[in-house]
Amino acid sequence: MPVKRLKVASKAFKGAKSLLKSSKVAPKPGSKGGPGAGKDFSEKIKDAARQESGDKCVFCGKDTIRSKTPHPDRSNIDHSISKKNGGNNTLENAQNTCQTCNLDKGAANTKEYLEQYRHAARKGF
Ligand SMILES: [Zn+2]
Repeated sequence: MPVKRLKVASKAFKGAKSLLKSSKVAPKPGSKGGPGAGKDFSEKIKDAARQESGDKCVFCGKDTIRSKTPHPDRSNIDHSISKKNGGNNTLENAQNTCQTCNLDKGAANTKEYLEQYRHAARKGF
């Protein structure tokens, strides 16, 4: 029966979708230089970075929220390579983080921050 086949297909699709959803978002190595070096992201890039991450922080995996006022879980679009270090405003350099991780990262590049973060995780923070 065609109806039965359809049901099976939709079940498989749901499985694949939940797999996609649960896959962890990885922090980006970043991108620097070019005309967008040291500049802020456009709203379009920020939205794309949020979408890529499934609205999760790339560092701690927490769901991020949209808020106009400061909040620990607020979505901050981070320059993977900091502006100070010539990081540019392309999507390659944009990643969704929670405010807590973003403030913690400060002007560090992702690579440096991850080293600190892993170190802290080992210490049980
Ligand atoms: Zn976070």
